[in-house]
Amino acid sequence: MLERLHAGGYSSYLVGGGVRDALLELQPKDFDIATDASPEEVRSLFRNSRIIGRRFRLVHVVFGRDIIEVATFRADHASGKGGETGSDGRILRDNVYGSIEEDALRRDFTVNALYFNIEDNTVVDFVGGLDDIEDGVFRLIGNPVQRCEEDPVRVLRAARLAAKLQFDIEQDTLDAMFDTAHMLENMPPARLFEEALKMFHGGYAVRSFHRLLELDLFGYLFPQTNARLRDEMVESDQPGYEKQLIEAALANTDSRILQDLPVTPAYLLAFMQWGAVYECARKLMQKGLTPSDAIWHAGDVVLPLQLRVTSIPKRFSAPMREIWSLQPRLEQLPGNRCLALLENRRFRAAYDFLCLRARFDDTLKDAAEWWTRVQEVDATEQEQMCKDKPVVTSHWGEPGKGPKRKRRARRGRAGRDRKSPGSGSGKQ
Ligand code: ATP
Ligand code: MG
Repeated sequence: MLERLHAGGYSSYLVGGGVRDALLELQPKDFDIATDASPEEVRSLFRNSRIIGRRFRLVHVVFGRDIIEVATFRADHASGKGGETGSDGRILRDNVYGSIEEDALRRDFTVNALYFNIEDNTVVDFVGGLDDIEDGVFRLIGNPVQRCEEDPVRVLRAARLAAKLQFDIEQDTLDAMFDTAHMLENMPPARLFEEALKMFHGGYAVRSFHRLLELDLFGYLFPQTNARLRDEMVESDQPGYEKQLIEAALANTDSRILQDLPVTPAYLLAFMQWGAVYECARKLMQKGLTPSDAIWHAGDVVLPLQLRVTSIPKRFSAPMREIWSLQPRLEQLPGNRCLALLENRRFRAAYDFLCLRARFDDTLKDAAEWWTRVQEVDATEQEQMCKDKPVVTSHWGEPGKGPKRKRRARRGRAGRDRKSPGSGSGKQ
C-alpha cells in the first residue's frame, strides 16, 4: 500500500490513532494513511478504491475485509480555497491540500498527529506528540478554544480518547472544553450518535462513561438519563440503581468486545433509556394502560426526546422497544403462556436485559433464574417447569389485570407490533 504510493513518487505515512496506539503498545484499531497524492491520484493507483466524503474527501482502498483510509495532506482551512467556516467558527468543509506539517497542525490532538515513515521506521512529530505520549497528556493542537469552536465534537473526542488511553487532559485543553461544550447542543444528531457509538463500543465504555460524568458532558449525549442520574445522586450518596445498571451494561459490552463477541447498540441504548421508559410506563399504567401498552407509549415519549440529540437508526430503536416490551411478559406471564417467548427473535436480548436488571433488583432474581434454567432443559422438562414459573408483580402488578376494554385494545396492538415493532412512532 505505502510501497505503491512511494513507487508512484508520492510520500506517504501511517498516521492518527493507529500510530498513537502502537506507540502506547495498545492494539491499533486501524491505520490511516496520509499522503501528498491527491484523492484522484490515489484513486488511479488503486483499482479497488473509491473517493468518499464531502466535509473531508478521502479515498477508501479495499483490501479483502479491511478498508484503509487514505487522506491527502490538508492545510488550515483558512489558508486557501476548498474550505468553508460557519458564522460560529465551525468548519463546514475542509478540503484545502497542503504540506505534511500543515496536515499535522490541523489534526485535533498532539498524540494524533504523529506520522510513521515505514521507509526508515521513524516518527515525524511537529507538535510535541511524542512528549505527550511519554507523559500521558492529552492536548489539543493550537489555540484550544478555537479548535473546539471549529469542531465541537473534539470536546467529546477528548473525553473519549483520554478515557481510552487513560491520559490526563492538559489544563488549557480542559478549560477550552468547559468553555465550548455548550456548542455540542447544535451538532447534527447523526454525528453525535456516531461519536456515542465510538464512546461505548470501543472496549472502554465504562471509562468513557465515567469521564463523561466527571467532565459533565454526559448530558450532551443523553440528557434525560443525565438528569435522572443527577436526581439519583442528590437523593443518596451511594451509587444509585440506574447508574449501577448502566455501568453493568457498559461493563458487559466491554467484556464482550474484549472476547470478540458481537455487540449491538440496541442493547446498550435500551439500558440508557430504561429508567425514563420505566418511570413513564408506570405513570401510564396508573391511567389504566396495560404494561405492554404503557411501555409502548413510554417509548413514544422517551425516544423522540433522545432523537433530538442523537439520531438512533430504526434498526436499533425497533429492537430497543422490543426488548423493553418483553420485560413485563418475562416477569408476569404464567408458565402456560410464556414458553412461546423462547421463540421470540428478541428473546435472547430481552433475557440478558432481565438478568442484568435482576442483579440489582431482588424481586427479579427468581424469574431470571427460571428463564436461565428453562433454556437448559428439554421440552418435557420445560413443560414441567411451567407449573412453577415465578410471576413477578413488583413492577407491573398482577398479570392480566386492567379494564376489559383495554385488554382487547392490547390484543389488537400486539398483532400490529409483531409485524412492525417500530410502527408506534412515526418520528424515528
Ligand atoms: P480511534 O482509536 O477511535 O480510531 P482515532 O484518533 O484514530 O481514534 P479517528 O476518528 O479514527 O480517531 O481519526 C483518525 C485521525 O484523524 C485522528 O487521529 C486525527 O488525527 C484525525 N481526526 C479525526 N477527527 C478529527 C477532528 N474532528 N478534528 C481534527 N482531526 C481529526
Ligand atoms: Mg482511528
